Amino acid sequence: TFVRRPLLAGNWKMNGLRAALTEVQRVAAGFAGAPRSRIDLLLCPPATLLAAASAIAAPAGVFLGGQDCHSEPSGAHTGDISAAMLADAGANFVIIGHSERRADHGESDALVRAKALAALAAGLTPIVCVGETRQEREAGRAEDVVGSQIAGSVPPGFAPNRIVLAYEPVWAIGTGLTPTPQDVARMHGFARERLEAALGAGQGPGVRILYGGSVKPSNARELMSVDDVDGALVGGASLRADDFLAIAAAW
Ligand code: PEP
Repeated sequence: TFVRRPLLAGNWKMNGLRAALTEVQRVAAGFAGAPRSRIDLLLCPPATLLAAASAIAAPAGVFLGGQDCHSEPSGAHTGDISAAMLADAGANFVIIGHSERRADHGESDALVRAKALAALAAGLTPIVCVGETRQEREAGRAEDVVGSQIAGSVPPGFAPNRIVLAYEPVWAIGTGLTPTPQDVARMHGFARERLEAALGAGQGPGVRILYGGSVKPSNARELMSVDDVDGALVGGASLRADDFLAIAAAW
């Protein structure tokens, strides 16, 4: 049997100058308290802050992560960052295939899978993001879309504790809207079945599946108590330490 330790991940997106390291400091100080024994806490600041954030947070047991990496280990890719560079700066995880990258940069499932493989090769744990748009949900295609994203972007053949999946309905990101707990349970149960198909028989129950999309202190407890929800990927509410720690208190 698998024990899935809850993971609370904060995605700062393209926010945060050095002054924001005070928020990292506050998260690290807050995490030294009670939640530490119950959950894994992860901050994904912009890459420019990774090394400084790691120096502050890693001693407190807070994990650090990148928000994207290139699919190649090195080379002529101006402006890109390799998985090994993230690891070298203190990252343990990397978000891959976030809907904003799929939309803004046209990332395909195949590219997302290649990036996840590059992350694994560098010793990072990829957090592979999937999720349907509002139009896809309204057309009754949410499961089709998420199923094919999982089949196309999760690298096969890895141990379930090497990969994290994030289910993030695009229409819930940054909008204040959230699916009902029943919808979350249905989609996470479905995602776990598809992970089983991707990773091999018996492996589905070992993968942590995060919910993402407008998680905040006021709804975290309800969303995090849903079956098959093993944590959260939080955008807006991860920018302020108080909010992020209040979400951590859901456990
Ligand atoms: C995200 O972008 O991963 C996200 C969940 O954003 P927000 O929490 O702001 O909806």
